[in-house]
Amino acid sequence: MSGPDLVVLGLGPAGRATAHRAASAGMTVLAFDPAPDRRWRRTFGLWADELPGWLPPGVVAARSFPEVVAGARFRLGREYAVLDVDRLQDALTLGGVEVRSAAADRDAALRDHPGAFVVDARGPAPSADPRVPRQTAAGVLVAAGAHDELWMDWRPAPGVGEDEAASFLYAVRVTADSVLLEETCLAGAPALTVDELESRLRRRLAVRGVSAGEVYERVDFPLLTDGPRRGHRWCGVGVRGTSLHPATGYSVAASLAFADDASAAFAAGRGPVTASGVAAHRLRSAALRALLGMSAREQRAFFEVFFGLPDRHVRAFLSARSGPAATAAAMTAAFAAAPWDLRRRLSGAISPATRPRPRR
Ligand SMILES: Cc1cc2nc3c(=O)[nH]c(=O)nc-3n(C[C@H](O)[C@H](O)[C@H](O)COP(=O)(O)OP(=O)(O)OC[C@H]3O[C@@H](n4cnc5c(N)ncnc54)[C@H](O)[C@@H]3O)c2cc1C
Repeated sequence: MSGPDLVVLGLGPAGRATAHRAASAGMTVLAFDPAPDRRWRRTFGLWADELPGWLPPGVVAARSFPEVVAGARFRLGREYAVLDVDRLQDALTLGGVEVRSAAADRDAALRDHPGAFVVDARGPAPSADPRVPRQTAAGVLVAAGAHDELWMDWRPAPGVGEDEAASFLYAVRVTADSVLLEETCLAGAPALTVDELESRLRRRLAVRGVSAGEVYERVDFPLLTDGPRRGHRWCGVGVRGTSLHPATGYSVAASLAFADDASAAFAAGRGPVTASGVAAHRLRSAALRALLGMSAREQRAFFEVFFGLPDRHVRAFLSARSGPAATAAAMTAAFAAAPWDLRRRLSGAISPATRPRPRR
């Protein structure tokens, strides 16, 4: 009997989408997950224009046009979608996939299935190292209309000094009648604790006279893991691969897109992660390092600059699918638009080749 064409390790959003699309394209797929039927319990948001056309429209729980407040208020004019995770999980059917309820190891999968390509979608590698940058957040639900809908509100929470570690408020419509308010530490090493973020959130809400119940969602995951993203006959995807945007923490949109890119690449007999994809991921990782090096004041100033850039740069930088040229162009534009003291922080993030020369 011949072996599978594709082995998928992990059936979170990244692995499940990959297995689903590959099986739909006619590949023989074997998937491993210790809990393949565990229901997803996370709020997944993405820009609506990033949703693949093959997903049924019912996977979207809410659509909105959230704004950003940095120094000024920015209307992004871009529709945001929050997914109904149950429907998303059910839409990614695994009818033609052989699913084994077991943990698996990448090297063992490569050894045991010499004719297969292996996609590593096992999510974050466990690490207690405080130097690993993480994103953390604490969120509550409030009734729609009780609060402005803002993708990022960088005004400090009450009682948080200008120079204390920064957090922002994510206030996004998640169903027809509710908004998720999530106090978020975009990136920290160490990151702010979820308890500290909850306390900041409660203070914000108290000042605004908004009442909320128990914490609805706690977020804590690594933004960057060491190690290669691809090798001979294997690649990572989702948090394990280049789909996780290290400077924003988003990965779902890029993982859904990867599922199709991967099927096309397999059909063409090549690996789905290209050298240019890895190079773009390195640039985004450099942007994360620049963010980590900024004070709270500088982070707020940076987002004031960033959201004032032309829309094409904002979109290119936010997408984990942009190539190195578009990503470098966006980073260079941010550098050029930044005040001098902020340029010092950004200069390490853009490569010498893309850094503009100082005027004489
Ligand atoms: C609360 C929260 C909210 C988030 N919100 C968003 C959002 O709005 N938008 C966004 O883009 N991103 C968001 N993220 C970030 C990221 O997209 C999610 O973490 C997402 O779940 C990552 O998907 P994944 O498939 O890569 O990994 P995971 O969802 O972590 O899935 C990994 C899978 O691998 C399995 N596994 C683990 N070890 C093994 C093994 N040894 N063998 C086989 N299987 C294994 C696990 O059981 C699991 O099913 C959020 C993260 C959190 C924590």
